[in-house]
Amino acid sequence: MAQVSHLIKVFNVQCVMCGRAAGQLIGRGFVPAQRVAAPIAGRNGETRCGECGGNLYLEPEEAITPFMASQIAAQRAGALQQAQRAA
Ligand SMILES: [Zn+2]
Repeated sequence: MAQVSHLIKVFNVQCVMCGRAAGQLIGRGFVPAQRVAAPIAGRNGETRCGECGGNLYLEPEEAITPFMASQIAAQRAGALQQAQRAA
């Protein structure tokens, strides 16, 4: 199963307090969710919910291929450009 090792792990980064998804961890990159405040750093350097300061936890999602990861990155870049144009 050589293919499996090439899949990129995906985790939803969710808040235990308010249940908001702060974003997704795709491989080693964090993709912030839109319309949710970016995570903030806590006193001990841990990452906390940008909305309520609650603890964040990782919820495993289905692994994706590097191709899908690049598509998501491209979509994300496109959405940012649209947001900048609208502003
Ligand atoms: Zn929260």
